[in-house]
Amino acid sequence: MTTGLIFDIQRFSVHDGPGIRTTVFFKGCPLRCRWCHNPESQAMGPEIMVRPARCIGCGACRAACPHGAVDDRARCRACGACAAACYTGARELVGRTMSVAEVMAEVERDRAFYDQSGGGVTFSGGEPLAQPEFLAELLSACRARGLRTAVDTCGYAAWAVVDRIRPWVDLFLYDVKVVDDAKHRAFTGVSNARILANLRRLAELGHEVVLRVPLVPGVNDDEASIDALAALATSLARRYPVSLLPYHEIGIDKYRRLGREYLLEGVSEPTAERVAELAARLAQSGLQVRIGG
Ligand code: SF4
Ligand code: SF4
Repeated sequence: MTTGLIFDIQRFSVHDGPGIRTTVFFKGCPLRCRWCHNPESQAMGPEIMVRPARCIGCGACRAACPHGAVDDRARCRACGACAAACYTGARELVGRTMSVAEVMAEVERDRAFYDQSGGGVTFSGGEPLAQPEFLAELLSACRARGLRTAVDTCGYAAWAVVDRIRPWVDLFLYDVKVVDDAKHRAFTGVSNARILANLRRLAELGHEVVLRVPLVPGVNDDEASIDALAALATSLARRYPVSLLPYHEIGIDKYRRLGREYLLEGVSEPTAERVAELAARLAQSGLQVRIGG
C-alpha cells in the first residue's frame, strides 16, 4: 500500500485550475521560496504549529509530551501527543500519512461538482513531484475513474519523474518564479536550470500548461524581470497563458507558529496599479495574461 504525507485537502477550490476542484496538498518541498505563504508545506516530515493566543496554560501538553519538548523544538519528534492532549487547539500537528485509497475516497466525494463545472482534482504542495510514487498512483487512479487532473508544481525534479507522471496529467500549473538564475538561487535556494529544461520539454511534447508567476516586490516586480519572463514564455514550443500571483502577507503568522524566522519581513504587497502595469507590459509580447490564480 503506497502512502504519502499530506498537510491538507481543500474541497471546493476555485483557484487551482478550471471549475470546482479538490486540492490535495503534499507536504515537503525542495525549494525554500522566501515568500512562501505555506511554510508548513516545506519540511518533508510532520511538525508542530503553535497558536499562543489559544493557550490557556493548563499544562496538558507538557504532561503528555514524552520527550520534554514542549518548550524546546529541537527535541520534538513530531509524535503529536501534545496536540492530541490540547483541547483548545493551541497545538496542531501538521502532516498526516494517507494511503492512495484514503485520498481517493476524499476526492470522490465531490465528483458531481467536478462534472458540472469542468473541474477535477489538483495535486499541489509543497511539491507533489517530491513524492513521485504516491503522485503517480493517485494520478493513475484519477484517470481510471475519469477524474480530470492538474499538478501544481515548481518543476524541480528529474525529467524521469516528470516523464513518468505526465501521461495522467491534464494540466500543469507550472511555477516560473524568477528567470534570472542567480536571483532564483538567492530567493528559492536552488538553480532554475532543471525547472526551465523540464518546462521546455513539456511544451515540446504538447502538454497543457498555465505558467504561474508570483509577483514579489524587490524580487521580480521590475521591468527587466518581466521582459525576461516574456522572452522565456515566447520562446517555448507552445504559447501558454500566464497567471501573475501578487505577493501577499497572509502566511507570515504561520512562520511564527512554526518557530521560524520570516525572511521577507517588511516587504509590502504590490499595489493593484503596479500589478496591472506589469501585466500590461507582459501582454505586449502577445501572451495571454491574467492576474490571480
Ligand atoms: S495543552 Fe494547549 S492550552 Fe494547555 S498549556 Fe498546552 S498548549 Fe496551552
Ligand atoms: S509533538 Fe510529541 S515530541 Fe513534539 S512537543 Fe508534542 S508531544 Fe512532544
